[in-house]
Amino acid sequence: MGDLTHSDAWKVGDEARLVVETLRHVTPRAEIVAVITNSDRPIPGFDIDPLVGPKAKEAFELIRERVQGQLRGKEPLGSFSWTILDTEWGVLVDAIELLNGNIVGALIVARHGRVWSQREVSIARAFGGLFGKVASQTTREGNLLHQRRLDELVSQVAERLMSATLDTRKEVLGWTTRVLAEFLDSDVAFLRRNDHVRGLSILEAEWPIRDDFTGPDPLGEVRFDADPIFMATKDLREPYLPGMEDATDEFMDRVEKGSGETLVAGAAVPLLLGDSTWGVLGFIHFGLRAWVPAEISALQAVASMLVQLQARIDAEERTAHIAHHDDLTDLPNRRALLRELKVRREANRDTAVMIIDLDRFKVLNDFLGHANGDRLLITIADRIRTSIRVNDYCARLGGDEFVVLLDEAHSAMEVLASAYRLLELVAAPVDLGGQQFSHTASIGIVIAVAGSDQTDSDILACADGAMYVAKARGRNKAVLHDEEMRATLDERSRMEIMLRDALEQDQLRLHYQPEVDIRTGELLSVEALVRWLHPTRGILNAAEFITVAEETGLVLTIGRWVFAEACRQLAQWRKEYPDLALIVRVNMSPAEFAATDLVEFVENCLKVNDIPGERLCIEITEYAVVEEPEKTANILRGFRKMGVEIAIDDFGTGFASMTELKHLPVDLLKLDMSFVEGITTDAYDRAIVESIIRLGHALNLGVTAEGIEHSEIIEELLVLGCHRGQGYLISRPVDPSELKPMLTAGRVPLSLLQPVDETTRGLTSTKS
Ligand code: C2E
Ligand code: MG
Ligand code: MG
Repeated sequence: MGDLTHSDAWKVGDEARLVVETLRHVTPRAEIVAVITNSDRPIPGFDIDPLVGPKAKEAFELIRERVQGQLRGKEPLGSFSWTILDTEWGVLVDAIELLNGNIVGALIVARHGRVWSQREVSIARAFGGLFGKVASQTTREGNLLHQRRLDELVSQVAERLMSATLDTRKEVLGWTTRVLAEFLDSDVAFLRRNDHVRGLSILEAEWPIRDDFTGPDPLGEVRFDADPIFMATKDLREPYLPGMEDATDEFMDRVEKGSGETLVAGAAVPLLLGDSTWGVLGFIHFGLRAWVPAEISALQAVASMLVQLQARIDAEERTAHIAHHDDLTDLPNRRALLRELKVRREANRDTAVMIIDLDRFKVLNDFLGHANGDRLLITIADRIRTSIRVNDYCARLGGDEFVVLLDEAHSAMEVLASAYRLLELVAAPVDLGGQQFSHTASIGIVIAVAGSDQTDSDILACADGAMYVAKARGRNKAVLHDEEMRATLDERSRMEIMLRDALEQDQLRLHYQPEVDIRTGELLSVEALVRWLHPTRGILNAAEFITVAEETGLVLTIGRWVFAEACRQLAQWRKEYPDLALIVRVNMSPAEFAATDLVEFVENCLKVNDIPGERLCIEITEYAVVEEPEKTANILRGFRKMGVEIAIDDFGTGFASMTELKHLPVDLLKLDMSFVEGITTDAYDRAIVESIIRLGHALNLGVTAEGIEHSEIIEELLVLGCHRGQGYLISRPVDPSELKPMLTAGRVPLSLLQPVDETTRGLTSTKS
C-alpha cells in the first residue's frame, strides 16, 4: 500500500459513511466498528468515527495498532481470533481495496469473547467490498469532475499566459499564482526563480501578497543554502510533495506560530528549462492536504507553460534589447536615444544634449586594428556609463559618437564642467595590447530648455554643429551651442562677405613652404598656401578662412585663383632657376572636385604656362576620396594622365581605407602634423606614424611628414624610415621673395635639421 496521505488520497464521501453506518446496524453485537488506515493522521473521507464500546477502548487501540502493522507490512488480512488483554477477541479485518487494486485501509469489526460466525464474516466482507467499491466509485467520479475543473483551469491559465507580454508578465504571474492557490485551496502559493549564477532563489509572484515587512522583502531573494527547503528546490527535477515528516522542527514552529496548525503539506513543482531548473511553483497547506495525481500533472502543465512564457518573453526582451542597443558597447542606440529625448522633452525637463565624438578615431581603427578600436570604444562607453548620474542617459550613435543627456541642466557652467569631466575620463589612458594610449574627444552641447519649440533633430543638429566647432578649435574641447557659437556663426557670415570682397580687391596671396629631404636638406618641392592680406587684421592664414570659403562655395573661386597663381609663379621660377627640378604643390578642396571642368582647367593652366605635369602636385584630403570615390578617382586619373602628382594631405585624419587607396592613382601620403608632433612623446602617435610609413612603402607611395617643429622629430622620422618633410623647423610658409636663397642653393642648410639650441633659432610653434 502506498502512502495514502499524499499520493493515493481520495475522498470517500458520504456513501462510504453510509456503508459503515449500515454495517453497524447489521452487526449489532459488534463492540468495535472502525475504518483504519496506515496513517496516523485523519484522512478526508476516512475520518469516520469508530464505534467503540465503553469497555473496548483499550482493546481498540491495540487492535488498531496491530491492523495498521499488518497493512503497512502488507500482511494478509482476514478474520482472527486474538487474545487481547487476556480476553479472546473475534476480529474481522477486511481490506478496503480500490478498483485499481490499491489497498488503502481496512474495515474492522470486533467483538469480545467470541469469534464471528461464518455468516457474519460474509456480511462484513460484503460491506468491506462495498466500502471499497463506493470509495473507488466516489473517487473516480470525484476525480473526473476534479479533472474537468483542473483542465478548465489549465486552459484558462494557458490563455492568459499566451497573451502575456514583457509589460504584463509580472501581473500575469501574480494572477496565475493566485488562481492556482485558490483552486487548490492552498494557504500560501509562490513562484520563485532560480538564479544559479548568484545562488539565489528569487520571488516572482506570491499569494497572498505579504506586506508585513519593512525594508527589503526577507523572502525576495534567498540564498539556496539559507534553508533546506530552498536548497531542495534548486535542482528539483520532479514534483516534491513534502509532508510534515519532511519539514524541519524550525519550519513547523514557524508554521504553527503563523497558522496555529501543527501539520503542513506542500507541493513544489519544478519549472524545467532544458537541463536546469528555472524555478519552482510552490503551494503550502497548513493542516493536512492530500494531492491527487491529476493536480500534480496540472501543476506540471502550468509549470511548463510558465517556462515557455519566460522563454518567449526572454526572446522578446532580447529582440527589444537588440533593437534599442548597440551591439558593441551595449549602450542604447540612436533609436533609443531619440525615444528617450522625446520622453524627457515631453516631461518638460531642461535637458543638456552632449555629442561626444572621439578625435581621430578612424586612425586608431585603421592603424591599430579594429580589435583595438573596439576595445577602446568599449572602455570609453563603460567610463561614460559609470560616471553619469542615475537620471542621466548615455547612448552610442554609432562609430565613435556618443550622446549623453544630462537631466536638470539649468546652468551652462555646470554643463560645461560636466563635459570637461567627461573629456578627462575619456582621455585617461587605455591599455591596448600592453601599451597605454590616450584618446581625446570633442564635445558639442545644446541645452534643450523645457518648453522650447526646437525639434529633437534640430537639437541634435545644433549639438553636432557645436561638436564640429570644438574640433575646429583644436579638439579635446567642449563647446556649448549658445551665444558664443552664434557669435562664431555671425563671424562666419561677416567673414563670408569680407572674403567675397577680398577676391574682388585682390587681397589674396600665395605663400610657399618648402619640403626637403631631411637627410640632406635638398629642396624637393614647395607647397602653395593661400594667405589673405586683410585690410585691418594683417596676413590671415588659410586655416582662418578656408573653412568659411569651403562652406560658402567661395573656395571654388579661390581655388581657381590659387591654381592659376601657383602656375604663374612656377613658370616664373622655371625661368629664373632653369636647373632646379622644383615641384609646386597646390591644395584642392573636395568642393572643387564637384566642378565638371576641373581637369580641363588644370590642363589649360599647365599649357598656358608651359609647365610639364610632373612639376605639379595636387594635394587632396581623404574626405574627397571618401565622399565620392568614383568621381574623385576619375578626376585623379585625368590628372595622372597629364603627369600631375597626387598627394593625400593630412593623411590619417580622414576616412580613406587601404582598399580605396589601392585603387586610386596616388603618389604621396602626407603624414598629418597632429601625429608627427607626437612621435617622440606619444606611443599612439608613434604607432600610427610607423604604420602609415609602412603602408606607404607597401603601396609604393612616397611618405612625407608635415609640421616638423623639432630636430628630435627628424631623428625619429629617419628611424621610422621617412626621409621627407616640411615644417616650421625647416621653414615657415613664406612670400616667394623670401624663398630666393633656398631656390638658389637648391637646398636648406643642414644645420637647420640638426639639434641646436632652439631658442637661438627664433622659431616658435605659432602658425605662420
Ligand atoms: P595643409 O595643406 O595641411 O597645410 C599645412 C598647414 O600647416 C598650413 O597652414 C601651414 O602653415 C601649417 N604648417 C606648416 N608647417 C607647420 C609646422 O611646423 N607647425 C605648425 N603648427 N603648422 C605648420 P595654413 O596655411 O593655415 O593652411 C591650413 C590648411 O588650409 C591647409 O592644410 C590646407 O588644407 C588648406 N589650404 C591652404 N591653402 C589652401 C589653398 O590654396 N586651397 C585650398 N583648397 N586649401 C588650402
Ligand atoms: Mg597641404
Ligand atoms: Mg596637411
